[in-house]
Amino acid sequence: MFRLTSRRTVSLMTNLPTSFHSSKLASTLALLETSPDGNLDPSSLNLLQAAKLLKNPITALFVGPNASTGAQSLKDSVKCEGLSKIVVVKDDSLAHYLPENISPLLVELLKGDTYSHFVITSSSTGKNILPRLAALIDNQPVCDVVKIEGPNKFVRPIYAGNALATIETSQDKKLLSVRASAFDSVEEGKSENVEIVEIPFTNKDAIPIKWLSANLTKTGRPDLGSAKTIVSGGRAFKDKESFEKYLTPLADVLDAGIGATRAAVDNGLCDNSLQIGQTGKIVAPNLYIAVGLSGAVQHLAGMKDSGTIVAINNDPDAPIFKNATYGLEGDVLKIVPELTEKIKAAQK
Ligand SMILES: Cc1cc2nc3c(=O)[nH]c(=O)nc-3n(C[C@H](O)[C@H](O)[C@H](O)COP(=O)(O)OP(=O)(O)OC[C@H]3O[C@@H](n4cnc5c(N)ncnc54)[C@H](O)[C@@H]3O)c2cc1C
Repeated sequence: MFRLTSRRTVSLMTNLPTSFHSSKLASTLALLETSPDGNLDPSSLNLLQAAKLLKNPITALFVGPNASTGAQSLKDSVKCEGLSKIVVVKDDSLAHYLPENISPLLVELLKGDTYSHFVITSSSTGKNILPRLAALIDNQPVCDVVKIEGPNKFVRPIYAGNALATIETSQDKKLLSVRASAFDSVEEGKSENVEIVEIPFTNKDAIPIKWLSANLTKTGRPDLGSAKTIVSGGRAFKDKESFEKYLTPLADVLDAGIGATRAAVDNGLCDNSLQIGQTGKIVAPNLYIAVGLSGAVQHLAGMKDSGTIVAINNDPDAPIFKNATYGLEGDVLKIVPELTEKIKAAQK
């Protein structure tokens, strides 16, 4: 038995079955996400950086009706050492990244010796697709990778981020989901010599489900996954009105995303899409302002890798202060408006 301390490291070996075809060529297939109209998701650039660290030639894969737009924008905007090919599979059934539809395609691509590694971000898309793909090819994926130590050796958080496990896998195919926030973006530039190849989706007859509709909340704020600054609120706010009244102006002056604790979500202060933590989103902005939240371990699991953490709390013993770069002790109802005004004045 070992006692868990913050970020303690344990080592694990996975000597799992190597039943899938043996891989002779080291090469990485990376599924890059785009918005429905084909704009590159910023997390794709972090995924490519992680793929680079595997030191294999990289094939970037785009799927869906607007896959070509994503492929072209990658070619025109990114310089990525090791990127050798961009593969496009343009098919309506691959829209929305439904795992039931994409997995048969990935199984087909990963057959044989071409690819030794498959990488995808630990986004909701990645979390949906990777387990299904792994089950279909009888493979043990390594999820939530935060560090790549070699082609077979990866670090991932366990126990809600309280420990780091170093995992060495002997499987022929390495299936990885990667925490985008743990890796930098690849360099901006151009990949002029990289060829875009379109391939057909041949085994789509097996697809059992169809996308019907989506009911999305649009905020106009930076997405939490890629926001450079996040203002996050907790149970200190008594109702939705005060949560919004105090946090929105602060987020506005900083052009920040708004996050929340699970207690804030459960108390109806905000939508659950704002929840950050073990059962919410994992974020790592440059600046995280924790407003009236205690810093429970499950919340820290989602934000403790942020660059600078500012905590505002009226309890000097609140655990969040131990994780904060700067602490402001006092009533959020007084401090937040004052801070907002001071930032506004400094911006003039
Ligand atoms: C399995 C599991 C998963 C979970 N997943 C998550 C998760 O993903 N994300 C998450 O956030 N939580 C998660 N939780 C819940 C977590 O344990 C905490 O309950 C939650 O994070 C507490 O939220 P809070 O900090 O807003 O509330 P509290 O812990 O109640 O803290 C409120 C803080 O506000 C301060 N405060 C009160 N009034 C004021 C004021 N006027 N001015 C200044 N400060 C004030 C208090 O001092 C206190 O520190 C999970 C729990 C479990 C069991």
